[in-house]
Amino acid sequence: MQLADSHNHIHFSECDTSAVLMRAHCAGVVNQLIVGIDPDDSRRALTVAESASGLYAAVGIHPQLAGQYSPRDVQALADMASSTVVAVGETGFDLYRTPTTEELQAELFRSHIDLARRLKLPLVIHDRQAHAQTLSVLDEADGWSLGGVMHCFSGDVDLARRVLDKGFYLSIPGVITYKNAHDLVAAAAYAPPERLLIETDAPYLSPQRYRGRPNEPAYLVETLTCLARIKEIDVDELAAITVQNFHTLFLKNHDERRRMDD
Ligand SMILES: [Zn+2]
Ligand SMILES: [Zn+2]
Repeated sequence: MQLADSHNHIHFSECDTSAVLMRAHCAGVVNQLIVGIDPDDSRRALTVAESASGLYAAVGIHPQLAGQYSPRDVQALADMASSTVVAVGETGFDLYRTPTTEELQAELFRSHIDLARRLKLPLVIHDRQAHAQTLSVLDEADGWSLGGVMHCFSGDVDLARRVLDKGFYLSIPGVITYKNAHDLVAAAAYAPPERLLIETDAPYLSPQRYRGRPNEPAYLVETLTCLARIKEIDVDELAAITVQNFHTLFLKNHDERRRMDD
């Protein structure tokens, strides 16, 4: 069985990256999107992604850091563009105990949308307690047309429907294995399999069985198994679909868009 982790931070200094990569390999995780949260961190994500096949990077500045960076810093991320960089983000809003303002986050988010348009890449959206704000910037800046994923999806069926109608993917985190994840379970049940990705968000959000220790891609099978039960789809079949979805969103379009440019 092969798996694709649509969002993690295994390049963070607290992760034993090479051991984590080895265990991911043994667990059948063939693709990973390693996501940067500021310019230097994005460079580190890219370096790890370039170290083995099947690994890709997203470059961006996390909304929680909006106060420390300007739109100019976002546009400078274009310098990192390469065949290994397949998405722009994570970007969006984080209004949970935020050290910055909604306005600064919106400004940086819009700049990421401009960058994604320039680079012809899809968006990796972070939306924490900010569904309305996230949708409104995507509407007004036409971020939807670039394609993308709501990473660590945390909405209900209604939000899922609105996001899916706009052509985006939902990425399901290990949170779905928690007892109280009723909205997420309902949203995952509602979404068509061909629009679902799975993610660890490692080193965060370990699935129930591993709660209390750092998460890693090798644990992704927990999320897959839970999701397969919810969707009443064979585990191997759902694994194959989510790997295919990873390719369609991050790799196929990427290749096609680049070809159109040549
Ligand atoms: Zn995030
Ligand atoms: Zn993240």
